[in-house]
Amino acid sequence: MHNQSTGRGRAGLLRRLVALVAVMACALSMGACGSSSSDGHVIKIGIKFDQPGVGYKKSGTYEGFDVDVARYIAHKLGYRDDEIVWKEAPSKQREAMLQNGDVDMILASYSITDERKKAVSFAGPYLVAGQDLLVRSDNTDITGPQDLNGKRLCSVTGSTSANTVKQKFANEVQLMEQPSYAECATALFSGIVDAVTTDDIILAGLAANARGKLKLVGAPFTQERYGVGIRKGDTEFAKQINQAIRDMIDDGSWQRAIEDNTSGTGYTPNAQYNPPDPTEGEEDD
Ligand code: GLU
Repeated sequence: MHNQSTGRGRAGLLRRLVALVAVMACALSMGACGSSSSDGHVIKIGIKFDQPGVGYKKSGTYEGFDVDVARYIAHKLGYRDDEIVWKEAPSKQREAMLQNGDVDMILASYSITDERKKAVSFAGPYLVAGQDLLVRSDNTDITGPQDLNGKRLCSVTGSTSANTVKQKFANEVQLMEQPSYAECATALFSGIVDAVTTDDIILAGLAANARGKLKLVGAPFTQERYGVGIRKGDTEFAKQINQAIRDMIDDGSWQRAIEDNTSGTGYTPNAQYNPPDPTEGEEDD
């Protein structure tokens, strides 16, 4: 009897100790442990792995504008660098990854669209890019989508870029879809296609990595509002993210991240739309 109650007493003490440690860990983490979007105390973020300057995996490290924005947001939410789990989020898989809970948020050159909003929600925008064309440096006849007649064009499955081609230029061009833009760039190098189409910031990074062999046409023909994809309906989380984006713009980190990640590529965001107001979509979500 006595032994039993002592045993219970010890177990109770242990439980209280465990709870205390949990509370302390929570306090040290600056309050993010209450967030519904964290799993344990890590945040899982979907990014691209093969878009230089945007989302890029380089010998186990991650860099690019999306990565810098994601890191800034994660820090504001109370996560340290070693509490961020980076996951590759290919264009076609983004909605499913959020719906399945594979990631808590996605910053992967992910345009906010009404169609996507049926499946997921967005914070932001944190950048407004524009769809453009990438060609071989010696090309002189493609100066915009109007010149695509009879040409072979590469884009990525599940992207707004491929959709725009299908909707607007389907009669003129032969579209080849690939899983990623890196594969499109390879197809362009080897002459399998005449041009690659997606957002200017992505193409500028690919061109800079191609050592003079590829060039950006530089005549954007859409507006791509990059959002932070989150699980559908998590408006509280969207507001926290928007506040972090606003802080990033206000303290100069946004501008620095753009410059650091695009220097030498010739890309500058369109000043008419950038930096955007991250809260512009809060009403209609
Ligand atoms: N921003 C466009 C999109 O969300 C093209 C870039 C991409 O595929 O990630 O589809």
